[in-house]
Amino acid sequence: MDRISTLKSLIDAFPHPSVLIGRSERILAINSHAERILARNAEGRHYTAVFRQPRVVEAIERVLAASDTEEVRFLSKSISQDHVYRASIQPLSGPASAGVLVSLEDLSREEGLGQMRRDFVANVSHELRSPLTALSGFIETLRGPAAKDAKAQTQFLGMMEIETARMTRLVQDLLSLSRVESEERVKPDERVDLLDILSDARIVLDGLAEEKGVDLRFPELADPVWVAGDRDQLTQVFRNLVENAVKYGNSKVSVEINLFDHEPYIRGPAVVVDVRDDGDGIEPHHVPRLTERFYRVDAHRSRAQGGTGLGLAIVKHVIGRHRGRLRIASVPGQGSTFSVILPLA
Ligand code: ADP
Repeated sequence: MDRISTLKSLIDAFPHPSVLIGRSERILAINSHAERILARNAEGRHYTAVFRQPRVVEAIERVLAASDTEEVRFLSKSISQDHVYRASIQPLSGPASAGVLVSLEDLSREEGLGQMRRDFVANVSHELRSPLTALSGFIETLRGPAAKDAKAQTQFLGMMEIETARMTRLVQDLLSLSRVESEERVKPDERVDLLDILSDARIVLDGLAEEKGVDLRFPELADPVWVAGDRDQLTQVFRNLVENAVKYGNSKVSVEINLFDHEPYIRGPAVVVDVRDDGDGIEPHHVPRLTERFYRVDAHRSRAQGGTGLGLAIVKHVIGRHRGRLRIASVPGQGSTFSVILPLA
């Protein structure tokens, strides 16, 4: 094997995209990971034709001249995705001009996670700021213009109660989300009857349905439906889904249970609980994003209904922990069906 092919097979074994540049400033070897990002048939070409970004080109130039290691950011754009890499440019041992090894480490995932964290904090702050601003406005009014007006005081205290309840719900949902995220890898081992869980959820929801004038139907089954699950978390799943159906539905909401010997989604015997409403439905482009934290189709409507924007995110994580699936089918103008698929115990 000649020297170049030895080098090529050596850097081909590197897990990161890597390029070897020789004293001649030409590419001596490039591994297949790097070929995918930079260029095919790059061997023999001048490095400036392969690394076109001035920041990287200048850093390579400096390392070739001075033999100090450098790190710079390298951005690659493809049709489907943009990537950010850390390019480490290291001199080869020997004289400074012997050549350099450029290796790229993909930082996109870390950067994406960092961005997600920043967005989350910004969203939480925004959600808390609106009720806080309202509350401080009410306090000011109670101290000033409404100080001697008993009727206005009662009215403002009522509004303060609503804002405080909104903040309490948000904090509760944030705590639930963080609890279920931290437990996501722990498979629940309790054996629970889904019918029991639905009847727990029903106690709270019958009142809400009556208040909204919605006809809410729960399944009437005689035999228990056993799943391996966390009772409180599953109760929360069905409460959130049925509550949404009542909030965003029109006049009818039904919950149905079906058992399957083989459900393709989870490749085994399963129970499917459908929560169906006859509301406005959801445009298809929103559907894949509904389980993102704070994603709402109509933020104004959600807030007016006391929504936190976290309900479906909690649902998704709980179902994930139970090795189940959430399926959303919706026809704009006709309504939606949220199906929870859980493996049978
Ligand atoms: P929210 O607290 O806003 O209800 P969720 O996470 O429970 O938060 O739901 C996210 C969004 O999904 C809602 O704001 C609403 O736009 C939409 N959505 C949820 N359930 C339904 C439904 N049954 N019909 C129509 N839209 C729904």
